[in-house]
Amino acid sequence: MKKICILGSTGSIGTQTLEIVREYNRDLKVISLSAASNIDLMEEQVREFHPSKVCMYDEAKADELRIKIADTDTEVLSGMNGLIELCEDDDVDMVVTAVVGMIGIRPTIAAIKAGKDIALANKETLVCAGHIIMPLAAQKGIKILPVDSEHSAIFQSLQGFPKERIEKILLTASGGPFRGLKRNELVNITWREALKHPNWSMGKKITIDSSTLVNKGLEVIEAKWLFGVEPDMIQVVLQPQSIIHSAVQYVDGGIIAQLGTPDMKLPIQYALFYPDRRPMKDERVDLFKLGQIIFDRPDMDTFLGLKLAYEAIGIGGSMPTVLNAANERAVSLFLNDRIRFLDIYDIIKQSMDRHKKIDDPTVEQILEAEADCYEFISSVWE
Ligand code: NDP
Ligand code: MG
Repeated sequence: MKKICILGSTGSIGTQTLEIVREYNRDLKVISLSAASNIDLMEEQVREFHPSKVCMYDEAKADELRIKIADTDTEVLSGMNGLIELCEDDDVDMVVTAVVGMIGIRPTIAAIKAGKDIALANKETLVCAGHIIMPLAAQKGIKILPVDSEHSAIFQSLQGFPKERIEKILLTASGGPFRGLKRNELVNITWREALKHPNWSMGKKITIDSSTLVNKGLEVIEAKWLFGVEPDMIQVVLQPQSIIHSAVQYVDGGIIAQLGTPDMKLPIQYALFYPDRRPMKDERVDLFKLGQIIFDRPDMDTFLGLKLAYEAIGIGGSMPTVLNAANERAVSLFLNDRIRFLDIYDIIKQSMDRHKKIDDPTVEQILEAEADCYEFISSVWE
């Protein structure tokens, strides 16, 4: 029986993780759950999965939830201290990090220090603090199991092969809803259009990131840290059908890939049961129906998200934090009709241009860089 804590249980990855727990309730047990403010869904989850503790980041919502579930045995915590307490709980074996954004940094570090394996969906955390998280995980001998579909595919393609024999990583991308459009056609794009992803159903922030290719940029940085490869060994390949989830090319020219339907349940389940592969009833790829597999080059001059991410990781230090923080704030402004689609790139670029890189930033310096970036964006754009 694996005992798990889910950070972000009310989101897209969180609810799909719970679907797997429902299916495998003799092998997986939920010890704790957390969310930001969605207490209605959290109440349902408490009544179904009987966690011993839950955390609502929002204190007022935690108070409301305490009243709603007063008839249960579940304890309600709140805020960052609550998230960290869940991660340090002796009862927990594995933490599924499915919160969105760099809010996940401190809980993830706490979980690793407490010796918990991590099923990692929360890529923003690795983008900002990969240089802290990966060495710490190695030192503690814990596993960081990727949930992001591309990184799970790379991880699966690495099984049984020596890492030193990697020639390059082929990181696939759908290209998002605006693939093929040019800059002048993106000027009036609304967030409603950007939320219509052709293949994947995901949370709002990552769906916008997919439309700007910032998501792919964050994934290049995520891959660098997870697999210890330099960014120039990571090639982004458009695969608009989202069937090849990524691949590894080895020094003998052989390419090993993982294919499947665009469904996050497989990578989540693989992380939960690694190294086992458990049965899953969902749809299969029908190769005859598919007919052919299409590839293309990403248009980095139009979709600047990828270019800016390569720049940020090239500079290194605290620059990826600024890329990520600026993007988090820009996406939120875009979703609130405060800026236009292409302003997202301008906000990231201007934030990076003014930042003075700090080498090997500590968690405090990462959070300071985030705060400084937010202050700058507020002064110029809000
Ligand atoms: P969602 O927006 O669907 O869900 C986010 C979850 O995090 C919700 O449960 C939300 O709670 C919770 N949350 C947000 N802020 C806090 C906070 N401060 N404290 C505690 N909980 C918080 O996001 P996704 O599931 O789409 O994405 C989660 C992560 O996984 C992201 O990093 C994303 O990049 C990554 N990922 C997602 C994929 C997908 O298919 N969705 C694919 C690959 C990676 P509430 O509901 O109360 O707001
Ligand atoms: Mg992905």
